[in-house]
Amino acid sequence: MTQWLLENESITRLSVFLGTLITMLVLEKALPNRLWQPSLVQPSLAKRQLLNLSLTVLNTVALRALPFASAATASLWATTNNFGLFQWLDLSSTAKFALTIFLLDLCIYWQHRYFHHNAFLWNLHKVHHCDTHLDASTALRFHPLEIIISMLVKSLVAVLLGVPLIGLIAFEILLNASALFNHANIKLNKATDRTLRAIIVTPDMHTVHHSTDKQETNSNYGFFLSIWDRIFASYTASSKLQPTKIGITEVDPNDTNSVYKLLKLPVTKKSA
Ligand SMILES: [Zn+2]
Ligand SMILES: [Zn+2]
Repeated sequence: MTQWLLENESITRLSVFLGTLITMLVLEKALPNRLWQPSLVQPSLAKRQLLNLSLTVLNTVALRALPFASAATASLWATTNNFGLFQWLDLSSTAKFALTIFLLDLCIYWQHRYFHHNAFLWNLHKVHHCDTHLDASTALRFHPLEIIISMLVKSLVAVLLGVPLIGLIAFEILLNASALFNHANIKLNKATDRTLRAIIVTPDMHTVHHSTDKQETNSNYGFFLSIWDRIFASYTASSKLQPTKIGITEVDPNDTNSVYKLLKLPVTKKSA
């Protein structure tokens, strides 16, 4: 299985990504939680989804063009050179695999939290938050610089821990699928949400993170496991705004309706 996954990494990633995306799009049609509200700036849902998808295509190209920004290369280097904490400790492959998922998720939690608290990084991350509708396509909407920084951080952690490549690939696939799920515009019943939320971040939990209320935006940073927000006191169970208003007030919607505008958003000043 490990060998097969390593040999078919790209096709496995793409298949899980497309499979999850299509499943979420179908569920969004069948069980929508919010209705699409067209505006003068963003009149079409399909156009907005295409905009978000374009960013993910651009980000994939950017990462391919920068071979040094690859956590997989970092992991391969560490394991072949016997470098990193996991290589120095006497751990079973199962323990290394589980710890890789657990610790990389913890690292993504803190990285996300830092992107909210550092002014430069927030200017990049607001490309994700200025979406005024929330669905699976929002999970694809990130500024390329954020994606590159995030990959460099993951690569550094992969080297320091000496994570096995199989664990790293599994984590990236899992994180991708989880982000598509927790951004999806789907209505889960309360009992299902509660059960899932005990372990993973659900759409309702992540919706709070996209609330226009600043306090709520600065909470629920998790992308996969829900425990980090509870452990590090950043958990908000539900939004006080009902229905939750999505987006951020510091950005003019006119500055967000094209790929070019989103790319330059970090340096765009809001007009008075
Ligand atoms: Zn965020
Ligand atoms: Zn989000």
